[in-house]
Amino acid sequence: MLNKKSVDDINVKGKKVLVRCDFNVPLQNGKITDENRLVAALPTIKKLIADGGRIILCSHLGKPKGVPKPELSLAPVAARLSELLGQEVKFAADPEVVGPNAKAAVEAMQDGDVILLENTRYRAEETKNGEAFSKDLASLCEVFVNDAFGTAHRAHCSNVGVTQFVDTAVVGYLMQKEIDFLGNAVNNPERPFVAILGGAKVSSKISVINNLLDKVDTLIIGGGMSYTFTKAQGGNIGDSLCEPDYYQYALDMLKKAEEKGVKLLLPVDNKIGDAFSNDCNQQIVPTGEIPDGWQGLDIGPETEKIFSDAVKDAKTVVWNGPMGCFEMPSFAHGTEAVAKALADTDATTIIGGGDSAAAVNILGYGDKMTHISTGGGASLEFLEGKELPGVAAANDK
Ligand code: AMP
Repeated sequence: MLNKKSVDDINVKGKKVLVRCDFNVPLQNGKITDENRLVAALPTIKKLIADGGRIILCSHLGKPKGVPKPELSLAPVAARLSELLGQEVKFAADPEVVGPNAKAAVEAMQDGDVILLENTRYRAEETKNGEAFSKDLASLCEVFVNDAFGTAHRAHCSNVGVTQFVDTAVVGYLMQKEIDFLGNAVNNPERPFVAILGGAKVSSKISVINNLLDKVDTLIIGGGMSYTFTKAQGGNIGDSLCEPDYYQYALDMLKKAEEKGVKLLLPVDNKIGDAFSNDCNQQIVPTGEIPDGWQGLDIGPETEKIFSDAVKDAKTVVWNGPMGCFEMPSFAHGTEAVAKALADTDATTIIGGGDSAAAVNILGYGDKMTHISTGGGASLEFLEGKELPGVAAANDK
């Protein structure tokens, strides 16, 4: 079990605290269109204000690729954060991120003040974990707090490099919550433990399937990746998504499940279309009987029932990846059925970030889940059993 020091384990009174947040929010014409990530960062910031720290926030936004791009400035985030916190968040505009302006702003801080640095990816070294920018960031602070789970699977200056030059590096509340939920689910789950995997490709979830087969009682595989399993077993999948390079892997996983006594559930029927479009001709067919010219775009009603029944008596459920092309209403039903089943079960329900988190929220089941991860890539790597560099870099308790 990961046991990292958190903001509850340190005294920040009068100290300069650099906090790496995930303020990578969607912007349209300078307006924030989804502020979930800002709201999620508030508990840590409020705690540090209450403790009398001098709080220096930083984050990346989009991919400016080492060049200051005004449309990717964090200025709108500072303005909105000021409103959400009810106190000024001073924006330290600075093309160098840690240049003369930012340094002067930090020098002028009083206890309880909050400032926000410019987009860390204005600096080319950021994504290369370069030493100079890591040192620049560290020079601003006495304590470092990492609360950005969304980038925890990357080793960048602002979440990993900086910790080499600061004595105290801890995790914030949001990061702690992610570690607790994902870590407990994978390493110490209440059983029965059911994992549901979907999405487009087997290849992007190879290690996840392999690792989860060592941990779960039931593994459910739906979505585009299920057709590779069907084809590997000799079924007809028409023009469905398929990765021939992974036939053997699929067969190996079926064998592993059998050897481990893990129930591996695959679709028994599919909703298929004669084109990749919402308005194509559609029908339901048994798995393995998809005619040429047709493709599987969702699970069918019988499968929905089997998958939903499988989570009813579970105590822990982890879900990553949609059951079909949920972006098209004609093929969203399977994903919605699984979301509903998770909303109805008494189990601890954990949604990996990315598409599954988006689907759960769009379909209106967000507040029914125990935990929706804020990191798609990061939660996937957690489920793979990998150590996340952003988590590993924090001090152990
Ligand atoms: P991933 O990023 O691997 O989780 O994949 C998510 C994407 O998989 C979504 O955009 C879905 O539309 C897509 N997807 C799910 N099922 C299918 C399918 N049967 N055929 C094609 N794409 C699919």
